[in-house]
Amino acid sequence: MNEKGTIFDQILAGKVPADVVYEDDFVLAFKDINPQAPIHVLFIPKVRIKTHNDIDEANMEYVSKIHLAINKYAREIGEHKNGYRIVMNCNENGQQTVNHIHMHFLAGRQMEWPPG
Ligand code: AMP
Repeated sequence: MNEKGTIFDQILAGKVPADVVYEDDFVLAFKDINPQAPIHVLFIPKVRIKTHNDIDEANMEYVSKIHLAINKYAREIGEHKNGYRIVMNCNENGQQTVNHIHMHFLAGRQMEWPPG
């Protein structure tokens, strides 16, 4: 892992473009470049939290705000009633590839269970 930060830090800094769909003081959300559903958005905190294991008392407000942002966005695009899936992958077995936590928001199709 690059300790200087990830591609998501660069998006937050405006150095790498992203298709932003939502922003507030705590959260940025943008379309995933490799969508796995008709709607695939990544919600990230505006501070670097590397993995789910690194969520703690000091930064948990960012995680709460991600959930509130997802609720707002789902309503805004009218998918709150049809439903959606939110996923946060952690480390190798979870197949996390970017070490800045992000909630995948997947919607617009019927999901399956169990996940692969
Ligand atoms: P994960 O495998 O859970 O760490 O998810 C990382 C996600 O970030 C993948 O779904 C990638 O397609 C997505 N991703 C990587 N780089 C970018 C980028 N520059 N803009 C948007 N999405 C990205």
